This record gives sequence, structure tokens and C-alpha cells, in this order.
Amino acid sequence: MTLTTNIFKKEFKKVFESQHASNIKDSSSEQQYAALANFIKFYSSDNWKQTNQLYIDEQVKQVYYFSMEFLPGRMLKSNLLNLGILDTVRDGITEMGLDFDAIVQSEVDPALGNGGLGRLASCFMDSIASLAIPGNGNGIRYRYGLFQQRFVDGYQVELPDNWLRNGNIWEVRKENKAVMIRFGGEVYLKEDGENKLRPIYSNTQNILAVPYDTGMIGYENDVVNNLRLWSAEIPPEEEINFKTSAERVLVNQITEVLYPDDSNYEGQLLRLRQEYFFTSAGIQSIIRFFKKQQLPWSEFPNKIAIHVNDTHPALCIPELMRILLDEEGLSWEKAWDITKKSISYTNHTIMQEAMEKWPVHMVQELIPRIYQIIEAINQRHIDKKIPLYGEELTYRTTIISDGNIKMANLAIIGSHSVNGVAQLHTDILKEEILHDFYEMYPSKFNNKTNGITQRRWLHLANEKLTQLIDTKIGKEWKTSPAELRQFKAYSKDEETLNLLSDIKLENKKRFAAYAKEKYAIELDPTALFDVQIKRLHAYKRQLLNALHILDRYLKIKDDPKIELQPRVFIFGAKAAPSYIYAKQIIKFINALAELVNNDPDVGNKIKIVFVENYGVSLAELIIPAADISEQISLAGKEASGTSNMKLMLNGALTMATLDGANIEIKDLVGEDNIFLFGMTNDEVNRMNREGHYSSKTVLKNNPRLNRILECLINGTIPDIEVEGRVIYDSLVQYNDEYYVLQDFESFVAAQERADILYQDKPLWNQKALINIASSGPFSADFTIMRYAEEIWNVKERPTKDKVFLKGNQPV
Ligand SMILES: *Cc1c(COP(=O)(O)O)cnc(C)c1O
Repeated sequence: MTLTTNIFKKEFKKVFESQHASNIKDSSSEQQYAALANFIKFYSSDNWKQTNQLYIDEQVKQVYYFSMEFLPGRMLKSNLLNLGILDTVRDGITEMGLDFDAIVQSEVDPALGNGGLGRLASCFMDSIASLAIPGNGNGIRYRYGLFQQRFVDGYQVELPDNWLRNGNIWEVRKENKAVMIRFGGEVYLKEDGENKLRPIYSNTQNILAVPYDTGMIGYENDVVNNLRLWSAEIPPEEEINFKTSAERVLVNQITEVLYPDDSNYEGQLLRLRQEYFFTSAGIQSIIRFFKKQQLPWSEFPNKIAIHVNDTHPALCIPELMRILLDEEGLSWEKAWDITKKSISYTNHTIMQEAMEKWPVHMVQELIPRIYQIIEAINQRHIDKKIPLYGEELTYRTTIISDGNIKMANLAIIGSHSVNGVAQLHTDILKEEILHDFYEMYPSKFNNKTNGITQRRWLHLANEKLTQLIDTKIGKEWKTSPAELRQFKAYSKDEETLNLLSDIKLENKKRFAAYAKEKYAIELDPTALFDVQIKRLHAYKRQLLNALHILDRYLKIKDDPKIELQPRVFIFGAKAAPSYIYAKQIIKFINALAELVNNDPDVGNKIKIVFVENYGVSLAELIIPAADISEQISLAGKEASGTSNMKLMLNGALTMATLDGANIEIKDLVGEDNIFLFGMTNDEVNRMNREGHYSSKTVLKNNPRLNRILECLINGTIPDIEVEGRVIYDSLVQYNDEYYVLQDFESFVAAQERADILYQDKPLWNQKALINIASSGPFSADFTIMRYAEEIWNVKERPTKDKVFLKGNQPV
């Protein structure tokens, strides 16, 4: 039955009244949201059930994507879009005299991730369902998401994110699918009479993992996959063993809060508990499902692909081994063969401070049997590789060394595929960071450049642009994003370029209205909107951006009549609460904003908006309004980046170093349609090797830059005595670890080129259009097709009544 507006209104009213026993007209938008979400859940429930049944009936291979973080964003609108009823429902709601946008805004934005890694996992869930690939997400149902960020006197303050306060309509608690997780105690191996060693456990602490499932709705294809998030509870039958409140607190703590560190490793016991908790729960539930099919164990890798998103779920490897060995009685060789064939691993970083390693004693105490298995994996690796590669190379690749367990080494040795997330990143892994492993296992290494879902980041976030593209090239691109390239045919079409520019202006006005209402800042929507939105990290170099703003400020102060392209600088960034330096940069930028925004000499030439609490929903507001996308990390440091892709898709021009996926953006749009600056990865490496870099020398030869830095410590910027000094010292005394000063001049020059180009509106619009039209290859649909074909080996798709994705070929 197709849903018409009239049927919708009737059904929606029924749902609402059954829940509230009152008139819709008198209700709050929160109540309306709850009713609408329930309606959608009900509307899609048959497909959810049937998708699951189809996978069982056809015994298709299924993918399990293990990720410690998911950052899904609000789900109401994206579910409506994917169900193909967005317009019907919006019309119905409006006809009922209700405010659709207010309803949409009432949904909480679940922040169960820190940034890029979690958002990637959610983009992937959307693409997996939209490609009708049998796939499941597996993660943690954090009671509190990433902290809410507020600014008080320009300082970041963190508040708890109690996202479940009003319940979560999308999830379904599946108590009957709960599994037990064992921590601590002692374990020893004992002969079982059949000549097999079995582990005997004593004094373990048993904790219940209860799954909460959320439907992942595919785009107009009747597929609803499953995202399973686990919650820790005291098992009812063991209530008696949890006597003290301290013990009870410990259980609740496991899934209480998301660690707020991005690209940084903290060796905390609770984090290790979380990692084992959700990997063990996920693996147990996979095994339970597999056993129901009564297939031989050798079929396991043909039916199951387990993907490990960064090393956080790498305990999948010893956990799968444990179950196959101890509970299913397989030989080591058989279990190891199955494990390696089933598991694949994505590396997300090359930065040493982000590489996970756990002290041996910690793992031994928390999960003693898992430790024994890791030790055995390590020993077998050594025994097998020494004859082939010699001692030196082999000992550089061991899992256990210096009293630590190196999680990346475990993930590489225990899997059949290791991928980086952009070409440069994969090359750096092969040639530098993981070179020893590349020597041993060259065929394991492959690249899978990240992607984004065009449904959320264009279709939903920028409906006007979507309509424009639809009228020009048809709707084919929605399921075949490579077709976006047809839009290039309009790059010289005046009418299209004008429409494009009107849409951008409208989106900028929408953001300006937000800035005004929220921060009482008046923005000129015709100014150039310059956007840097991402976690705050030294390597991402928000500082370089801020120094450029300071440079402009000084130019205006020297000559208040100077003609400068007016710019609005937009920042969005959370800093990890323990990352003091990052928080000091936030304070610096906020103080700079305070100074610049209120200086009458400056007027509209510079405005700075640092939005509070950056997350998916704010990204959806900011990205369509961007003219320039700041992707200015030090070359070699940003594994891929994905905000670069979202911004390009929405017609922003990229200000870029040759880092991560920026290089691939450059290759697609051509050097004329991107602003490049800064050192290359090779130049950075040479500089590091030679060790001649001296930031003081750079300063000595650049009085202008010297003057800019002086502003950090001479009182020009009020109220940053401490922060200004620390930042100054990091650049001058401590020799500028991220080469901010080295890249400064070429950055400013690139910004000047951007200013000049912005004067030529038709040409700017043309370049914006070329960026949009070139962004198809960054659809996560393609990324996922490549994972499916080259890593997971899932070719089968359930085809009942539907032919999915006709002619959709990766480019
Ligand atoms: C896309 C996205 C990111 C990743 O941004 P990068 O610039 O690639 O680091 C982080 N946070 C949110 C909310 C996002 O949507």
C-alpha cells in the first residue's frame, strides 16, 4: 500500500491519540516527534522483520561491522527519506497545522562517537543498507554520549550528555538475546578425558550484555538492517554476588560513558573493559546465530565477515579463538584459519599517541583466558616467522613487547585484510609505519578511501541544491552517485550558476539567522564563509587558521580603510577534556573573536563564529553554507578526513594541504579548482630527517609573522595571558612541532588567491559546481562496494522482488 498524505494524517493521529489521549494541536513538538518516530518505526517494522528472515532463509553471508563509536545524527528525516515518504509525511504534518522542522529539531542527536571514525561507521551503515548488503553494526549503548560543550568566558566547559533522558524510540531492547561476559578470576587448563585441554574458571565476575537494536533503513529498497548496541547489566541470577554498591557501580560503569578522546590513547582499565565487553558480546551473538544454521565450522568464513574499525574491537581475534577452541573444541589450526579468514581490520591513524597498547598485567588480570590466547598467538607468530624473516624483523612485529600488548600488531596478524583510509595514508602505512608487516604480508594491505553518504550530506542537508541537480541531470545520481559528473555539463551555464549561487546565499542566510539567534552576532550573508569544523587537535592546525585571521586583523588596524574581501570565519570543534593545549587554542580563538567582532574598525570585514557543541546536526547546518573548506592539517597527519568530502559535495572550495583524501580531491577537481598550499609529506619527512627546522629562524626572516605572534603575549588580545604564552612557546621555544610557521606564508598566499577569485562570482560559482559534480566518487556507496567485493567477499544480495542498484558501477 502506498502511503498518501490523507492516509498518513489518519494513521498518525491514531498513533498520537493512542499515546497521549489528547489533541495533537495542544501537544509539544517533543510529543509530536515521539508519535511520528513511533509511526515510522511501525511503518518499517515489516521490512525489518522480513529483511532479517530473508537473510536467514537464503543463508547469505553477513557482515558485522564492529565499532566502538557510531555517530548517526538525527534519524527521523533520514528514515523518512530512505522510506521514500519524506514529502508525503511533511505535507501531511504541515496540513495538520504542525511545524515539521520543529518536530525534526526535537529529536536528540545521539553523540555515541567522537568525530570522523564514528561518523564513518554511521555513513557505512547507511550505505550497507542502501546497497542491500546483509550487514550489521555492533557497538556500545553508552548511557552518556560525548560531553556537551559550552563556552564560559571563552573556555570550554563540559556537561554530561544525557541523551536517553526522554527515552529512545528507535531502539528495541532484546532481552532474550542477552549474553554473559566473564571478567577477572583465575583460569587454568585441565585435561577433559577426551585428550583435550579445557579451561577451568574460578572467581569470575559475570556481567550481562543486553542488546538494543536499531533498524538501519536502506534507501528506497525495503531493506532494514540492524545496528546492535550493547548495555551492561547485573545478571538477575547473580544479584546475590554483587553485594556492595561499589561492585554494582562497576557494572553500570562499563557502558556508562564514551571516552572523549579523539586520536589519542588512554590506557585506562575501564576502557579495556568496554572493549572486551562489546567484542565478546558481538562475537557470542554471531556464534549463536551461526550455530542455528547447523553448518560445518569450515563454512564460518563463507557466512560471516567481521570488520574491526580501528583496533578498539581487536579483541575479536582472541575472543573468536577462545570460543572456537574452548567451547566448540576445534583444534588451534582450524580455529586460527577460521579467525583469520573472517576478520578484517581498518587502520585509522599513523600517530603514535593514538596507537593502542595495553599493559600485560592489566589484560592478564581482567581477561586471563584472553591473555593466554594472545600469548599463544604471539608465540606461534614468532616461531613461524623467524625461519622466514630472521629474528630482527620478526621481533619488531611481535604482539607482546616491553610488557605491553600492541593492538595494531594483534589486528594485523589475526586478520586477512588491513586497509588504510586514503591512498596517501595506505602508502605511509606500507612504506613507513607498518613497513615490517608489509614485508611479511604484502597481500593483506589495501586502500579503501573513506566516503560519505550523499543522502544525509546532500539530499537532506541541502534540499534546494538537490532539487537543482535533479532538474538538470535527473535523479539517477541518488542511487548511482557517479552520475553527479553529468552536472559538469552546466559549469558554463549562466542560469545554473546563478541558481547555484542563490542556493548558497539562502543557506548562508539560514546559518546567519542561527548565529544571530544563538550568539547575537550579525553576519553579512554575502561575505565569504570560511569553515573549519572538526575535532580540535594540534595536527589539524586550527591555530594556523587563527593566525591568518589575526594577520587580517592587523592589516585592518594598520589601515582601517583597506579593501578586504569580507569573511565570516566559522569554527566548530570539541577538545578532549584532558587535552589542555587544544582547550587553550579554543580560548585563544574565542578571545580573538571577542576582539575582532566588537572592533568598529573591523566591521563586516571579519566576523568569527565559534559554534558551541559541534556535532552532526550543526554540520548539517554549516556545510551547505560554506564557501571555503579548511583542510589544513600538516601533510601526513590526517589519515583521510571526511568533512573535506561533505563540504566539497556542497560546493565549497577546498583550502588544502596535500594530506589524506585532499590529494584525491585535487586529482578529481584539478589544481585549478582547489587552493593548495604548504609542505608535502615528502618535504615534511625530509625536514624531520634532517632536523634543521628552526621556527626562530623562520620568525627572524619574517617580521610580519613575528608581529602576529607578539600579539599572543603583548596584551593585544585580551584575557589570554596564560594561553597566549603557552601557544607562543609551543611555536617558538618548542620549535613548532606541526610546522605552523613554516606553512604560514604559503597559507596566506593561498587565502589571497581565494579572495581574488571570490571577486569573480561567475568563475567562483563555476569552480563550486565542478567540485559538486566531481564528488560522486566519494559516496560511501562506492567505498562500501569496494569493501564488499575486495575485503568481505559478499557478492550475494537478497534479490526477492527487487533488483538493487541497477547499473551502479564504482568509478
Ligand atoms: C564528518 C564529521 C567529522 C569528521 O571531520 P574531519 O574534518 O574529517 O575530521 C567529525 N565530526 C562530525 C560531527 C562530522 O560530521
